[in-house]
Amino acid sequence: MPPRHSPPEALLTTLTDGRGRSDRLTHTEHLPARPARYSPWPESIRPEIVAAALAVGVEQPWAHQAEAMNLAKSGQTVVIATGTASGKSLGYLAPVLSDLLDGTEARNGRGATALYLAPTKALAADQRRRAAELAPPRVRAALYDGDTPPEEREWVRQYASYVLTNPDMLHRGILPGHARWSSFLKALRYVVVDECHSYRGVFGSHVAQVLRRLRRICARYGSSPTFLLASATTADPAATAERLTGLPSVAVTEDASPRGPMVFGLWEPPLTENVGEHGAPVRRTATAEAAYLLTDLVEREVRTVVFVRSRRAAELVALQTQDQLGRPLAERVAAYRGGYLADERRALERALHSGRLLGLASTSALELGIDVSGLDAVLMAGYPGTRASLWQQAGRAGREAQGALAVLIARDDPLDTYLVHHPEALFAAPVEATVLDPDNPHVLAPHLCAAAAELPLTDADLELFGPSTAPLLPVLERRGLLRRRGDAWYWTRRERAADAVDLRGSGGNPVQIVEADTGRLLGTVDAAAAHTTVHTGAVHLHQGRTYLVRDFDLENAVALVEPADPPYTTAARDITSVSVLDTDTTVDWGEGRLNFGSVEVVNQVVGYLRKRISTGEIMGETKLDLPPRTLRTRAVWWTVTEDQLLDADIPPDQLPGAAHAAEHASIGLLPLFATCDRWDIGGVSVPLHPDTGLPTVFVYDGHPGGAGFAERGFRRAVEWLTATRAAIASCECERGCPSCVQSPKCGNGNDPLDKAAAVRLLDVLLAGAPGAGGEAGAGAGAGAGAGAGAGAGAGAELGADADADAGAGPEEAGEAETGASPGGVAGPDGEASAGS
Ligand SMILES: [Zn+2]
Ligand SMILES: [Zn+2]
Repeated sequence: MPPRHSPPEALLTTLTDGRGRSDRLTHTEHLPARPARYSPWPESIRPEIVAAALAVGVEQPWAHQAEAMNLAKSGQTVVIATGTASGKSLGYLAPVLSDLLDGTEARNGRGATALYLAPTKALAADQRRRAAELAPPRVRAALYDGDTPPEEREWVRQYASYVLTNPDMLHRGILPGHARWSSFLKALRYVVVDECHSYRGVFGSHVAQVLRRLRRICARYGSSPTFLLASATTADPAATAERLTGLPSVAVTEDASPRGPMVFGLWEPPLTENVGEHGAPVRRTATAEAAYLLTDLVEREVRTVVFVRSRRAAELVALQTQDQLGRPLAERVAAYRGGYLADERRALERALHSGRLLGLASTSALELGIDVSGLDAVLMAGYPGTRASLWQQAGRAGREAQGALAVLIARDDPLDTYLVHHPEALFAAPVEATVLDPDNPHVLAPHLCAAAAELPLTDADLELFGPSTAPLLPVLERRGLLRRRGDAWYWTRRERAADAVDLRGSGGNPVQIVEADTGRLLGTVDAAAAHTTVHTGAVHLHQGRTYLVRDFDLENAVALVEPADPPYTTAARDITSVSVLDTDTTVDWGEGRLNFGSVEVVNQVVGYLRKRISTGEIMGETKLDLPPRTLRTRAVWWTVTEDQLLDADIPPDQLPGAAHAAEHASIGLLPLFATCDRWDIGGVSVPLHPDTGLPTVFVYDGHPGGAGFAERGFRRAVEWLTATRAAIASCECERGCPSCVQSPKCGNGNDPLDKAAAVRLLDVLLAGAPGAGGEAGAGAGAGAGAGAGAGAGAGAELGADADADAGAGPEEAGEAETGASPGGVAGPDGEASAGS
């Protein structure tokens, strides 16, 4: 048995060669150690802060920290986008605390203030501790969230100079009550937006509008705070910061922090004897594979954390590993998930630090600012969705100088499969961008109302809120929400405008999930996802427990459930059609065309399948009587011509399967380019679409008005569809499987799918793409195409297939690390109830 501190290369070898698993390791990346680069402290940083930093072991800032400090002090909007553990906090805290300290010399002891925003309460609490380490006591840092007792709130407003809160609280509490915050806002020098990559999609679009409201209110009080943002490494952080704040931004991306050497393995579990839908080969699950690897590592006394995507998976990995180890080692393996009491969590952490515990299976809860560092190895059972999460998880291993091992174990889906065969997508420059779309009128409208309630809107505000504002105001007036008097718009209702929108909701009234026997409210699901996830008869997973939906009461938006343990899962069957409302941009790709614009999606859940858990075998189908639902959103779509089909040797009977397979895989790969997951988007493929008159594949945002994902797909279409083609072509299955073209949420039972024809279809499309050497070049937007407005959406009758994946998240969607789940971590906790 190798000693515990054997180098990571040796560890990886024992996992593969010694066990006859070398074919499962698809790639080994050696990340060399990186030495630190230092800069002197900027002169603008107060000596007290420098002294405090020294006291916690920081003699000199790293170069990127100093660069951020200088930019911040010059009043520049700056986003620090460097790796995990690169000291982003010091980069913004040093200038902020220096200015706050200057302010303590003011007569009232508070000459300058700063506001810190974190996506979760836990992170804000953690940051308060960090600020306290660096800040002399004269700087008064205070948390302000739903847990702040009413008697403390007044003190915070009047005396705190550094207020740490979350966007929900800013939206519901601080901005509507700005008059009570006037002295704080008047003196506001900085706004820190931490972990800003988590503000993406619809949530990010809401936060962008909240920040615009904040800027407007500050201007009213005569302040113009500098925005300092911290982000994980992504593509183009400056553009994201600009979209989020509305201000020109500079990015600091050269990471000068030291890094120990790391060996990073990419791992593909083997095919099993089991067969899935339509006889497809299926791989061993990432969680089962992780349990095998964890067993081997624990046997070698290697301290290891396994990251999984759901609480249930954490329990499963721990149980399976314990079984495989047997006593006494089994006792040194545990599961860690959200939902434990603080004491229990701390006890687990201590046990891991001391080495008494060797293996821990965990959800991403560990990412929330709880320090578990210096591990020997990290296993990731499935790509965690974004590069930011990947590096955060991998970074738990070997933070000190010793080498560490990280292994990404692929799940049986197109994105994971692509990644373990295309390491450059993980280790070269990031292609994934944080995507948001603040101009979405569905997002903007409630914020215009909230803004008008805070302070009447004038023409001078139009620019701040963006180009969608001017056309929207008259609409809001017609709906009786705003009224124009003189040259200003006023909020007319008695209720609080800010209450009309939940930043983390996706629109529509959420459906409540109620335990039938006890009447206990278990949680909620978004309206958009309800029809597919909590229809009568659905098996519903909630926080790792299994329930059966006894009755879905549409009218009252309630799903009555009972605990159950059926031997099957359910999969909704639905029919979706898309019609084109407006084409914003069309680009010719040779004979093919790529389009971006507005569409209407009509979706109806018509029944569900029961699938045996162990084998995936279909046990039966039940019809449902649910009404169709309409979604107006944004989409990217592409067409090919009859001639192209001839060139590609795709006869009419292969076309539906080819387009459908290409659509599935492209939905699976879009998250590589936009920070969405496959549940945020949907798609439809049609052999002959009435609006285009051609074979057409649509991919659309699953939220009203769009979230920016389809737009990102449009902008990066060449890379996106090239990756899609590669994912399909390189899969070793013969006729399609979950790793390439089968989708777990296909509304059509993954039928028809034609893997080989899909590759030929994408080839013929990509041959005309800009830069493909074909008849490219037609490149830039050829202007607005004719919007085929009256499309009857007759797709279904024409043999369309639809994948209304949108919104119907899997179990783990409810456990997103940002706490976007029902009653999320940061929760909407306005202060209105505290008696305004
Ligand atoms: Zn396959
Ligand atoms: Zn499908």
